[in-house]
Amino acid sequence: MYAQVIVDIAHSNVDRIFEYSCGEDVKAGCRVKVPFGGRVIDGFVMAVSPVSSFPPEKIKPVSGVYDEPPALVPECFDLVQAMAKRYRVPKAVCLRLFIPSEMRLGKVREVYRKRVKFANEITLSKSAVKQQQFYDFLKAEGDVDYTISADQFGRGAVNAVIEKGGGQLYSVRVNRTPTGDCGQEEKKILTPAQQAALNSIKNSAQTVQLIHGVTGSGKTEIYLNAIAAAVQQGKTAVFLVPEISLTPQMLAQLRRRFGGAAAILHSGLSAGERFDEWWRLRTGEAKIAIGARSAIFAPLENLGVIIIDEEHDSSYFSESSPRYSTLEIAKLRAEYNGCKLILGSATPSIESYSAAKSGQYNLITLTQRINGKPLPQIEIADMRKEVKRGNNTVFSQALREELKQTLDGGRQAIIFLNRRGYSHTVICQECGYVAKCENCDVSLAYHSEENCLKCHYCGAKYRMPRACPECGGLHLRYGGTGTQKVVADLKAAFPKARVLRMDNDTTSGKEGHYKILKQFGDREADILVGTQMIAKGHDFPSVTLVGILDADMSLHFSDYRAGERTFQLITQVSGRSGRAGEAGKVVLQTSSPENYILRYAVNYDYTGFYENEIALRETTQFPPFSLIVRVMVTADSDEKALEALKGTWFDIDGLRSKNPDQFIFLNKMHSPIKKIQGRVRYQVLMRLVGDKLLEDIYDISVKHTSSEALVYVEENPANLS
Ligand code: ADP
Ligand code: ZN
Repeated sequence: MYAQVIVDIAHSNVDRIFEYSCGEDVKAGCRVKVPFGGRVIDGFVMAVSPVSSFPPEKIKPVSGVYDEPPALVPECFDLVQAMAKRYRVPKAVCLRLFIPSEMRLGKVREVYRKRVKFANEITLSKSAVKQQQFYDFLKAEGDVDYTISADQFGRGAVNAVIEKGGGQLYSVRVNRTPTGDCGQEEKKILTPAQQAALNSIKNSAQTVQLIHGVTGSGKTEIYLNAIAAAVQQGKTAVFLVPEISLTPQMLAQLRRRFGGAAAILHSGLSAGERFDEWWRLRTGEAKIAIGARSAIFAPLENLGVIIIDEEHDSSYFSESSPRYSTLEIAKLRAEYNGCKLILGSATPSIESYSAAKSGQYNLITLTQRINGKPLPQIEIADMRKEVKRGNNTVFSQALREELKQTLDGGRQAIIFLNRRGYSHTVICQECGYVAKCENCDVSLAYHSEENCLKCHYCGAKYRMPRACPECGGLHLRYGGTGTQKVVADLKAAFPKARVLRMDNDTTSGKEGHYKILKQFGDREADILVGTQMIAKGHDFPSVTLVGILDADMSLHFSDYRAGERTFQLITQVSGRSGRAGEAGKVVLQTSSPENYILRYAVNYDYTGFYENEIALRETTQFPPFSLIVRVMVTADSDEKALEALKGTWFDIDGLRSKNPDQFIFLNKMHSPIKKIQGRVRYQVLMRLVGDKLLEDIYDISVKHTSSEALVYVEENPANLS
């Protein structure tokens, strides 16, 4: 037999099939060791064939085979071909997505535990007291753990009983499955709206289902029922959420409903746990994969449903190679398996909603919260007026009063600010010097707890200077408010309030997020201050007030999605308020209260917002009416970057000369952040009528990538920094 192998090297030079002779044990999907260029390296078997395309005497044999069963599911052969072509990356890079990295690097192996089974009646000598004790124990139990017994009776005694034929040693594979107490599930009876949604999904002819449901409308229950239906038919399911470590409640809910049939793939697990969860999916022991973006590559066969919750979330776009869109991969998998793909959101992306409106997707709308409670009322606080009134604190009068009432009433509040640290910048009031990172072209944030300056792009830390390094001036001012400052101000204003902070600085460690959310959920704190981490999905019944401190911050980003992001954020964060008994309230602080996006958000008018936004995108020719492509050029020096930029620009400009009708906009420039982690960044930015030239642009990027410079393509990038 001959194995067609892709070698595990991420380089386009070797991105093709190599043939090796092999035995019966090598099957499609296996990982193998093969001789390659004088070394032995890993490879993936894409197919096995009785014939070779080379003279057999020229073909080398494989050196070894890994794992049983084959690591790759059959579906992934098609998917890898499609992805490699679509995103112009070597197939090895795509193949790596389908197996846990720990497994590739040989860092984790299965864990076995040794056990002893009772085998035969034997007679032991009177002096062998320990042996007799172990033998009696073994006989009574029938089957015992080797290590525990060895600790208890002595290794020598246990071994002697085995040697004399009284017991038989064997191994079992152990799963390091992260479980935990998640309590009992309450049975829920579906509401008519939930039942109607499930019926609509079941009877729909379209593959993609978009559930547009207000926060608290019970979307999760619909997902769980769709998963249960798939499992009942003997099928499997993939359930994606934006950031799994942020949703312990969701995890507990899944464990309660599906027990061991659910496997959780997320970065918070240890390497061993991750590997074991993956393995349980691959062997069919687990049938439901839950995780963030990368769980779309779960090794499941026979998918019955794929779910993408909070489908508008930008974390569904990969920002490193391959720069895939999770939605695109999910569509491919849904089509391959002939199953439904369910997207859900209170604020669908403009692209998805427009696809639903045009009939490409089946649109399901849920307008009411489960308990019939109104959505929380959003009050706008005009911060310009506050300043005129002499209020220079971070809290408006309205928010301060609402906070007081909430605390007096024994309820909880959430304060949202999308900026961590104490201050955003440190500025010298005498000469205007701004502290900047040496590796990145960004200003440094002051962190009060460690009394240092931090770069939020590369993580570098700097000492807080006592005087301005430029002019020696002693008046350094903190510009912009971060979460640490909010906490400090809260403590000053409400000394008795118990305040928790949740941002990237407080959530390190395996269970960092979980601990803070649990503390807040257990009402060990009155106020939770946080960045966008606290915006997603949490269900805290006692929260009746949400303060949004800087609602317009994201409005001023130079991104065509700025309005959309702001609308989404306000809706998401507001949705945390008043979810259970009492009506909720939201105070939204802004310096541009007249902005139309805020107007729509305050009224929860998604369709109004959508109609306005889609009309705007059409007249200005932005997505979905065009395709934004950014070709990034990065290198460790300006010369190298400029050299690669020159070639890239020449070719793309040439493409434009031949296809002027395809380009709406084309230019080259420094990226907004000129340097990150010591790499200089340039970009060629364009807006195209459609994707006709996309392949050519990918070709150009591949052509100009070298050891000197990296050139890569981003489509409708979520982040334009
Ligand atoms: P969404 O995901 O749409 O924001 P959730 O799924 O979190 O909404 O549901 C909101 C609340 O309603 C949750 O506390 C959930 O447990 C509850 N809930 C959902 N469906 C039902 C039901 N059929 N009966 C009772 N409670 C429900
Ligand atoms: Zn930096």
